[in-house]
Parts: sequence; structure tokens; C-alpha cells
Amino acid sequence: MVELADEVKESEAENNYNTPDQSTDENCSDTSLRDIKYNHIFVGAKFDNAVLFKNAVRDLAIKSQFNVKFTKSEKKRIIGVCTYTQCNWRVRSSLYNIDNIWHVTVLGTSHNCPGVNNSGNKVATSTWLLHAIKDIIKSNLNVSPRILKGLIKDQYNLVVPYMKLWRSREMARDLLYGFVDENYAWVPLLQKELVTRNPGSHITYEYDTTDFTFRKIFVSFKVCIEGFRLGCRPLVGLDACHLKGKFLGMMLSAIALDGNNQLFPLAFAVVENESKSTWSWFIQNLIIALNHKVADIVIISDMEKGIKESVRNHLPQCEHRWIARIRGKPVVDLVNTIRRMLMEQRKERKEMATISKEILTKVALDHIKLISRDKKQYLVTISSNTIAKIESLQGTYEVDIGKRECTCREWQISGLPCKHAAAFIATFPNPIWHAYVDDYYHVHRLNVLIKLYLLTCSSLLFL
Ligand SMILES: [Zn+2]
Ligand SMILES: [Zn+2]
Repeated sequence: MVELADEVKESEAENNYNTPDQSTDENCSDTSLRDIKYNHIFVGAKFDNAVLFKNAVRDLAIKSQFNVKFTKSEKKRIIGVCTYTQCNWRVRSSLYNIDNIWHVTVLGTSHNCPGVNNSGNKVATSTWLLHAIKDIIKSNLNVSPRILKGLIKDQYNLVVPYMKLWRSREMARDLLYGFVDENYAWVPLLQKELVTRNPGSHITYEYDTTDFTFRKIFVSFKVCIEGFRLGCRPLVGLDACHLKGKFLGMMLSAIALDGNNQLFPLAFAVVENESKSTWSWFIQNLIIALNHKVADIVIISDMEKGIKESVRNHLPQCEHRWIARIRGKPVVDLVNTIRRMLMEQRKERKEMATISKEILTKVALDHIKLISRDKKQYLVTISSNTIAKIESLQGTYEVDIGKRECTCREWQISGLPCKHAAAFIATFPNPIWHAYVDDYYHVHRLNVLIKLYLLTCSSLLFL
């Protein structure tokens, strides 16, 4: 296999990489359409800008194993020729005034040259490589250079050195996430599209009223809210993480847990910073998304940078606890990530529920097994049918199985009986464990959640 030589015209490559008209390409969301644009050079083919045209010519040259050089690269005319002196192959593109688009006007059909071994192909510049891998990077930011190497080899019969691919991947990431304005220009469109596709979702954003720059966006899908109501425990984790890239913003999120302790995305927001004011805004929108039904929700967070105060101000009736951190991405990709997460979870959960013949979820069954193991170390003093005092080396607690409460508070928070409750329940002749487990841990709850997913996730497919 051939090895790609580092290109002499790196400087030209860098210039193209920074060309603002590359952004036009960034706004093209339809990859199939873009592939046609990139890969098909024919007389009459159109390109939005000179870079796209040149990259398409480079694709063609690499695939057909000849060298191309652009002998003319002017404001309104670009001419590419085969570098073999006796070969007459050429391609020409002109910028038409009428539509301000590049049109291919001349294209050679055959070469009278021996062609080149790809090892000598100077066409595969960094710019070209960037264009070749950009879509892959866009769909997977962390794709390894090794995988890129394989893809380039399959598609273009080229072997590109690992480090070169690594550098190009970094450049592609910068390019994709560097155009902050383009990324955020999507926001109003995204909001409209998401609400149309998911009626009842609460999606809102804010602009700076003086200069109209993007400030923040809040997204909560209806499917998530309904799923939360029907199939999750009333626990909501609030979290913040830094967004990578040139826009140094934050992502705030609200995550719930289903009956199998799987993370369930409830809402998220992209904001300028983590502060009392942004958390306040987030929580107020979360309350709207939850249709103000927040009375028995337990909030879990790290109690930092304004969360504590905001929760106290807006959700005074809610209990408040701990945290988990997750990595962030810019807003458009974030929405896609959450969507993908929902789709994957939907499949997984469907399988889980159809297999399970149990009344309780696996998490609940495992928990019961665990807590009933060391019941012997407790001294149980029964004071009524439902109330007992439980003594151990760790302390004394009072359990009320009628109210599903224990003074250790674990039962109230988790919805699963604590060790003390287990010690009491185990004194009954035939304990019906599922009667003491919160409804959220029953498999039928999960099934409701899955039905909802099947119904509404199909609409997310078309985004
Ligand atoms: Zn030729
Ligand atoms: Zn307890």
C-alpha cells in the first residue's frame, strides 16, 4: 500500500482551512446531498464555493490516480490540469454572476498519461484530508486516527500516516466547533423544528437584547417529561459541565433515574456560565417543563455555584442531595446525543421488559437480596402491625411500613425498603416484598415507559 507524502502546499491548505466561505458548507446538514456535491464532477455540476470545487477535483484525482494542479485560481475562474506534461486532461469551473455559484464548464474525459502511483500523489493535501474526514468527525468527535486510516484506505486506496490523521482530526474538530456563530445560528431553527416534531416539548432560548447574540437555550422533550412522570423515581439530579471548544459556555442538565437506575435525561440547557442567575433560569424552566408538578421531587446536586440558593428559592418544598458529572458538547450535537441516547435506551429497555417475568426490576430484586442478608444483626421490637423499633450497633431507628418510612430516611428517598425495614418485614410469615417497594421499581412501570418511547421516539427519528 502507498504512503501519502506530506504536501508542499501546506500554506495554501491553511489558508483554505480558514476561508470564511467554508462556513457555507457547515450549514449543509444533508450529508447525502453533500456527498453528491463533493464526489461528482461533471459538466454542469455546481459548487457553493471554490474550496468545495477544488476538493471535489482532488477526490477525483486521488480515486483515479492522477496528479492535478490548479493553473488558474482566480476570482471567477479555476482551471485544473493533469500534471503530466503530455496529458491534456483539464477541468474548468466558473463563478456565474447570475447565481453566485461555481459551475463546471469543461471536463476532460480521458488521460493520455500513465497516471500516478498514489504514493506520489501530491493532491492529498491537509485541506483535502480535512474535507475527507470532516463528516466522520462530525458524527463522532472521538473517532480514532486508526479508524480514520482504515476508512481513507477503503475509500481512496491511500495510506495516510497516523500523526497526519491525528493532526487533521484536531483541525477538523476546531473547524467544526470553531465556527461558533454558525453553530448558534441554528438555535432558532432548531427550536422550531424540535417543537414541531415533539409537540408539548418545552424548548426556549434567550438572546442578548442589545446585540442579539446567543445567550442560552433550554431543551426538555415531552417524551422525557412523560417518561419521567410515568416510569421514573421522583429524583432529579442537577449538574453542570464545561463545554469544550471556543465557546466557553456551560451545560446545565437535569437527569432522572428509572426503575433500573438507568440515567434518564429530563432537560438540559446551554448557558454562558454557571451562576445563581443561570441556575435560577434553568430551574424555572424545568418547573414549567414539569407543568409545576414538583412537590414530591427530591433534588440531587453538588450544591455549588448557585444551585443551592436557586433550589431553595424556586423549589422550597423539595428535598436536596448529591451529584454526578458528565462531559459536554455544543448545543446542536448535544441535542443529537440526547436523541441518540433515547433511541438506544428505548431498544435496550424494550428487550429488558419483554424478557423479565418478574414483578420488580432487577435493581429492586438485587437490593432486596442484599438488605435481607444481614437482618439477624437487628433487634426488632414490634409496637403495632405497622410500626417497629429497630436496634443495632449503628443506632436505633423507627420503621413504619404503612407509610413506607424509616427514621434513617433511606426508604423515603430511594423508594426501596432500608435494612431496618427489611429486618421488620422479615419477621412476617410470608413477606410480600413487592408490596413495600415503590411502584417505580415495578416492571409494569417500565413497560409504560417503553410504550411511550415507541410512540414518540419515532418522531425523533426524522430530526
Ligand atoms: Zn493525465
Ligand atoms: Zn432505615
